[in-house]
Amino acid sequence: MRSLVGVFLIVALGLNAVQTATALSTESPSTTNLSANAASVVRGPNGVLLPVVGRFAGSTVVSSTCGREVVYEEGLPLEGVVDVVLDPGHGGPESGSVGANGLVERDLNLAVAFHTKSALEEMGHSVVLTRRSDLHMPIRQRTAIVRALEPDAFVSIHHNGGAVKRSDTPGTETFHQVDTPDSRRLAGLLFEEVQSAFANYWVPWVRTYHQGVSARLREVRTDTYGILRMTRGVPSAIVEGLYLSNPPEAELLALPEVQQIEGQAIARAVDRFLTTEDAGSGFKPEFYDPHTTGTGTARGCRDITYSTRVEITTGFSEEEYAALLATAEGMGQSVDWLIRFGVYTLKFLAELPDAIPVAPLVGSDRPNSYGPVTQSVAWDQAEQVVLVKMAEAYGLTRTEVQKLGATLMVFLANLPQTN
Ligand SMILES: [Zn+2]
Repeated sequence: MRSLVGVFLIVALGLNAVQTATALSTESPSTTNLSANAASVVRGPNGVLLPVVGRFAGSTVVSSTCGREVVYEEGLPLEGVVDVVLDPGHGGPESGSVGANGLVERDLNLAVAFHTKSALEEMGHSVVLTRRSDLHMPIRQRTAIVRALEPDAFVSIHHNGGAVKRSDTPGTETFHQVDTPDSRRLAGLLFEEVQSAFANYWVPWVRTYHQGVSARLREVRTDTYGILRMTRGVPSAIVEGLYLSNPPEAELLALPEVQQIEGQAIARAVDRFLTTEDAGSGFKPEFYDPHTTGTGTARGCRDITYSTRVEITTGFSEEEYAALLATAEGMGQSVDWLIRFGVYTLKFLAELPDAIPVAPLVGSDRPNSYGPVTQSVAWDQAEQVVLVKMAEAYGLTRTEVQKLGATLMVFLANLPQTN
């Protein structure tokens, strides 16, 4: 166990930090370099797309529809190249704008996206949707799907709210990624196709100054919209077809044939982007406006069950267990709580800014997780991520990681107090 003490000495330098570990949450999105080669996206329950974060100690970790890391083994790899990803904006409790006729943006976006998908597939392109049902999905999950699939084009489909100024032409707006000619051209083609498709109708349109094609920025030359900012490297655009908040436009958008016409217009724009050098039109200067609606976060997002709780059992000697029990009681907690907390503390320490990189433990340095006294700890689908990541990092089984975490907590409890 000599090297365990070596590992734990890092701890002695940062005991204050350990106290803050009580605030650790499984929700914090962590980036990791541990991911191995794997299918980048799998299909989960009901066909949802789940980017694979990595495989750790034999377990597959995916990003859930709520954008949280969970252990999920049953996913079917998404085979083949994806040319286009379409994102029906909003979903679930995030309705987007709502028409006076009761038409809700989240549903309209989805209907239009399905029409776009069909039209693009008829043109020979392979297409997937970020969501295929009324689903709460934060921006970070939508963009994780795009980054994993690396399509040739990505379009987020929306319908606007707010404008009141009368207009002779449809108030279509598209937005592109700053300083990205491909994205700008995609947005220009989307504006051209979508606005001219609607211009075949006559209703009292509304518009704002942003009618046309532009980039919306916050400091420092960064896209305000996360859906564009977090997909850099993939030509991406947002299309706001019409103003759902304008009652005559809402009436128009409620017609199924108009939804199909809009979907086909978006498809023509994407097809021209992929197969021609056409420039598009409607370009406006970029503008600075850092404000967003505050939606698109994971707040309040509820994940379905991807994997059942697992119980992992670790063995201790009589002496070890007595020390563990004394430590737990000293903290007013149970032994299984303390073991779980120890594993979370291992992760916390490994991620400290100046932590010594964790290396697999070999030979006699591996903790002995067999003994006459056993303790089980139950881990849910998100907690399992921490357990398997630490197992991967230390080259241990999940049972051994529990032993390592338990040993750490006893070690910490017996350090001489220094302040
Ligand atoms: Zn929207």
